[in-house]
Amino acid sequence: MLSNSIMSLIDNCSIFNQSCLLCKTQNSAFGLCEDCKAMLPRLPDAHCLLCADPVATGHCCGSCQRSPPHFDALHAPYLFGYPLNAIIYAMKYGKRLELTGVLHHLMSEFAAKTSLYSDMVLPVPLSKERLAQRGFNQSDSLAQAIAVTMHSRFSPTLCWRKRNTVPQASLGRAERHRNLRNAFGVKQRIDGLSVAIVDDVATSGTTLSALAEILKKQGAKRVDAWVLCRASFPKT
Ligand SMILES: [Zn+2]
Ligand SMILES: [Zn+2]
Repeated sequence: MLSNSIMSLIDNCSIFNQSCLLCKTQNSAFGLCEDCKAMLPRLPDAHCLLCADPVATGHCCGSCQRSPPHFDALHAPYLFGYPLNAIIYAMKYGKRLELTGVLHHLMSEFAAKTSLYSDMVLPVPLSKERLAQRGFNQSDSLAQAIAVTMHSRFSPTLCWRKRNTVPQASLGRAERHRNLRNAFGVKQRIDGLSVAIVDDVATSGTTLSALAEILKKQGAKRVDAWVLCRASFPKT
């Protein structure tokens, strides 16, 4: 039983006393009530063990068999569908920073359900220009959620993005790969370490794969990619 003093502290703590972002129910812990949380678009249990493709029926999807990504596995609790896509857009482009708390909580819950551990956890870095434009890296808070849950090291400055690459969404698969080649830098050797790289959404998987590739060149023994939502990758 929680003591009365702890309960009154919780009642007065804004994080436990918000209205639900979606249905406005009062006293929704972390900004989403349980009913609305249950309606978020979950990644189906049947998915590719490498890239989390939800249409895969076997162990590993055809695309990963033909050309495996450089990360060892992609972990995602949700699909990039309504209303999560709307929440992420509002957070990133509408600068609704209060929404990062909701997404942070969803990522913590997911990480807590796994028994995965990495020695270092870092957000996919933004270029200096993009960071200046947006004012924050939307993946920082998600990476922190995973680092805290795993009792691991949050290492946001291990990697940087060298230049502002053309938006990946406008390119085909081969062009994406070219666009990202050499886009990332790593500050130091990380021989024998396992690394978790974190982003909000995986739209093609190529950004995560390119970052995993350079981390492995710097000695990482394993790279796990984590995203809150996995979009359907275009099949090309
Ligand atoms: Zn609700
Ligand atoms: Zn796959």
